[in-house]
Amino acid sequence: MQTKLLVDYLQNYRGRPLKLMEVCGTHTAALYRSGLRNLLPPSVQLLSGPGCPVCVTPTAYIDKLVDLSRQPGHCVLSFGDMLAVPGSRDSLLSARARGGHCDFFYQPEDVLERAAREPQTTFILAAVGFETTAPVWAALAETILARGLTNIKFLTALKTMPQVLEELCRTADIDGFLCPGHVAVITGSEIFRPLAVRYHKPMVVGGFTPELLAAALCRLVSAASHKEAGLWNEYGAFVKPQGNVKAQALLQKVFTAGPASWRGLMVLPASGLYLQGPYAVLDAGSRGLDADQIPPGCSCGQVLTGRLTSRECPLFGKACMPSQPVGACMVSNEGSCRIVYEEQG
Ligand code: SF4
Repeated sequence: MQTKLLVDYLQNYRGRPLKLMEVCGTHTAALYRSGLRNLLPPSVQLLSGPGCPVCVTPTAYIDKLVDLSRQPGHCVLSFGDMLAVPGSRDSLLSARARGGHCDFFYQPEDVLERAAREPQTTFILAAVGFETTAPVWAALAETILARGLTNIKFLTALKTMPQVLEELCRTADIDGFLCPGHVAVITGSEIFRPLAVRYHKPMVVGGFTPELLAAALCRLVSAASHKEAGLWNEYGAFVKPQGNVKAQALLQKVFTAGPASWRGLMVLPASGLYLQGPYAVLDAGSRGLDADQIPPGCSCGQVLTGRLTSRECPLFGKACMPSQPVGACMVSNEGSCRIVYEEQG
């Protein structure tokens, strides 16, 4: 169907009120950029979910990175977004201002060169992400072991989507889900089908261009309005039913599943990935980082589960801004609070 027809359908929807969720932070950003969110009628509420990896890292993980950055001879390396995420006491940026050692990198491979240049330093990689980026970390772990490099370790906060989606299906009042397209490239679309069946929800895997987003939203609105459960793949050019089998095999070789803490939510069983077998020697203490000390008034947990919108958080735009984030959702470019804040100018 042409995009104009799809947009017309969405704009003119007059069916029952719907609460839908885009799970992935990249979708949140793309929906704002495309202007599609603003075209939806008031009866269709589109909520942002827990699919921004930076937003869901618990404070205990940041605290551990901060502690490691202060150890003599250590340097924490992370993607830029992570540096500003508040822990219970400090962010990596504020730790650095007080003498901690941390830096950012653009791609994980950069660390190999850095570690070779500075053999006296132990580099701690802040490895966050979902199934999308986990294979990159797994490949890097393989390379580090193969080269016998001993001055690189991982602090992992890698998470997997089905468990948190199941938690949302179980506990949140959501009529249907726009499932994460990038994750599905790796996992395959079929990973979402058991949830669609078990919880009787429509689940649509979507892409990221305005055309693909419009197609996925139309499918989702149509199915949810008729209370039709099922799985639809509207990103078929890149997402296969069984996903990227090679990447899945690599993940199974390098990582094992274990409990993981999600900021503002809870510890979800088997929702984290941890280095296993010979790769475990590269781990800098990633397990058990469950404590999550959310600052008073911060509503990140409710925002990440669709119970509140960013604007409904009492701190939004007052105590919490991108220049002075209280919660993690105000830090990342894929964090819903930051996106909404910047959208309103
Ligand atoms: Fe968290 Fe800040 Fe968003 Fe409130 S405005 S939910 S404190 S990130």
